[in-house]
Amino acid sequence: MIRRFALFTVALGCLAACATRQTSIAIRNVTVIPMTGAGASAGQTVLVRDGRIAEIGPAAEVGAPADAIAVDGTGKFLIPGLFEMHAHTSKTRASALGLYVEHGVTTIRDQGSEHAEVLRWRQEIRTGARVGPRMLIAGPYLESLRNIERMRRDPPEERVEPFERARVPVGSPNDARRVIDSLAGLELDHFKVRTVQDRETYFALAAAAHAHGKRLVGHVVTASPADFLQAGQDGAEHGFPIALDSLPREERMAFWRQLAARDVGVVPTMVVVTESVFRPLEYFRALVSDTAGTTHPLRPYLSRFMILDWREQVEEATPQRREYFQRAWPIALQHLREIRDAGVRIMAGSDVAVLNIFPGASLHEELRLFVDSVGMTPMEALASATRKPAEWLGLADSVGTIEMGKVADLVLLDANPLDDITNTRRIAAVVLRGALFQRKDLDAIRASVATMPDQRVNDWVR
Ligand SMILES: [Zn+2]
Repeated sequence: MIRRFALFTVALGCLAACATRQTSIAIRNVTVIPMTGAGASAGQTVLVRDGRIAEIGPAAEVGAPADAIAVDGTGKFLIPGLFEMHAHTSKTRASALGLYVEHGVTTIRDQGSEHAEVLRWRQEIRTGARVGPRMLIAGPYLESLRNIERMRRDPPEERVEPFERARVPVGSPNDARRVIDSLAGLELDHFKVRTVQDRETYFALAAAAHAHGKRLVGHVVTASPADFLQAGQDGAEHGFPIALDSLPREERMAFWRQLAARDVGVVPTMVVVTESVFRPLEYFRALVSDTAGTTHPLRPYLSRFMILDWREQVEEATPQRREYFQRAWPIALQHLREIRDAGVRIMAGSDVAVLNIFPGASLHEELRLFVDSVGMTPMEALASATRKPAEWLGLADSVGTIEMGKVADLVLLDANPLDDITNTRRIAAVVLRGALFQRKDLDAIRASVATMPDQRVNDWVR
């Protein structure tokens, strides 16, 4: 096992090195969509040097060094690297990290994992031993003690996830302070709440996170707008309780406007409903037993654990669950349109690791839903996966837009995403922290995923 891992690291190291050893890259005659607020600008040359965007300008004015790798951008479009704001890397396992890059995702926010391993994977990415996106890490899911106790009562064969390693029980305000204090010493970027024991514990979690200068984000665990605001939760995943629909519209709008004023980040993960709930049960059954990729081209590239977990999720896909979401969906869409109108920061995330949500690929479907179901312009949808998360995460000085001096996280597209948002999927090349991956290199990343150890064995066992 150790030997296999060593070989695998060497292979990945080569892949990373092959891409990073270039001194500079000149992307010529490309249409730049900088996402700064300015419009698209045609006929540009973008020069990347030492991992950063060194120059942007009309082709005639930007002189590229003789040793620069030239990329012909004629007829192509350049956007900033994309952000996936909701992923679970312990569940996908490390092999998925390459799939994000292949799909133009250069930053992910992990929203609950076994922190020791994701911190290790992040370090491997930083040192170049592994190809993967920049990672922001929540650490373990914060769960109510009640919920963890329920999981402990499940027969072991009915739960494949080693949940005690990725979820921390929080049963009281004292627990909340103790748990956050103990996690605060790690290199975690924020905390993620999923369920809470009671109101006081919820408030204590938020206060403890803030005392350490970190955000508390996660599920909306209260149906009370007043409690949400009083706790000061900084980010909301999967939208708001549909119970808010019973409020008079003006009251609800006032709540959304408060969220906007406080810059609460909303990551609605709409794709979970359309792809993970609304697809027919027969499709899900075919998906988990498919090994040839007939249901989805990425299906053969999922880790062994992910498939075991998805099998379990298919068992949980009851008609009741589907009926609930059929009722909730129009309400959730209405709320999201109101949230948008109120000026709340909406960011793109797909909840990778949920059934039928694929690393990298599903983010593009979330962007399509932002346009087709919420009514965003393609520019606005692109901002939700570039500038908006970069600003919100405090990374705007280095990523999120195409500007001189910024880290070169770029995606070269074969067609204009402002004409049709699904053109974000037509990826010709990705620049990841200054390393160029042309189509053949991106294909090589995908091929390398198929050979990773976690494809053959479940490497996240109890
Ligand atoms: Zn999640």
